[in-house]
Parts: sequence; C-alpha cells; structure tokens
Amino acid sequence: MDRSLVELEEIIRKKICGVCSDRRIDGQCGLEEPADCALFALFPQVARAIQATHSKDIQDYIRAIREGVCSVCAKQAADGTCETRRQVQCALDAYLVLVVDAIEEATGNRFDRSNLNSQGPALRVQPGPASH
Ligand code: SF4
Ligand code: SF4
Repeated sequence: MDRSLVELEEIIRKKICGVCSDRRIDGQCGLEEPADCALFALFPQVARAIQATHSKDIQDYIRAIREGVCSVCAKQAADGTCETRRQVQCALDAYLVLVVDAIEEATGNRFDRSNLNSQGPALRVQPGPASH
C-alpha cells in the first residue's frame, strides 16, 4: 500500500503521540521543544529505515534505526551512545515496537511480534492497542 510520507507521519502522530508519556493532558506535546522529538524531526529517515527492513526480529529494526536515524541525529555522541536514549527520553526508541507496527500496518506489511524479547528498546508503555 503506497502512502505519502505526510500521510504516514499523520498516522504515526495519532498512534504514538496518543500513548506518549510526554503528551500533555490537552493533547499537545509536552516537550520544551516539540520539534526536537527525534521520531518526527527525522521522520523521513525513520520511515525509510523501517520500510527497508523486512524482518520478524525487532533487533533488525533497532539496527536499521541506529544506522539510518541515530547516525544523523544530533543527539548521538561520537561514540554512538545517546544520553537521551539512556534516559528513555527518545520517543522513537521508547516506542519503537509501536512505531514499526504502525508503519508496517499502514503500508500493508505484517510485523510478527512473536520474536520480541527483553533485548528490545526500553518501552515506556507495553505494546497494546493504539488504534485510535
Ligand atoms: S515527544 Fe514526540 S511522540 Fe511524544 S507527544 Fe511529543 S511529538 Fe509526540
Ligand atoms: S536514540 Fe538518540 S540518537 Fe537515536 S534518534 Fe533517539 S535521540 Fe537520536
């Protein structure tokens, strides 16, 4: 299913911002600088990395995000570490399973969650229904 990037971003905003712990009660992003949210600041790279990965293993998506997104993110240190990620403050990393699921669902690819394990990103929420 072909979706424009704008359309895809809109779908992901609805799904991820809807469950994000940084979302304010009035529905707005609670970050000091909402434009800093790596998930949307680097959305074209996020979408490209996920759509180029066809795997049942979330580790492959994590690798693709590190290579295609973190590598160009200003928050990543020269040694590849990320303090924002370490503090579970990167929505892309924290909600990666949901982001992958939502993008693959929106583009007609099926993501099999059966291989998810504790090595995945530090989710701030449990994967669950986010279809609103
Ligand atoms: S931090 Fe990102 S995912 Fe969370 S509410 Fe703000 S824009 Fe949405
Ligand atoms: S984990 Fe860090 S380097 Fe990667 S996208 Fe998030 S903030 Fe950027």
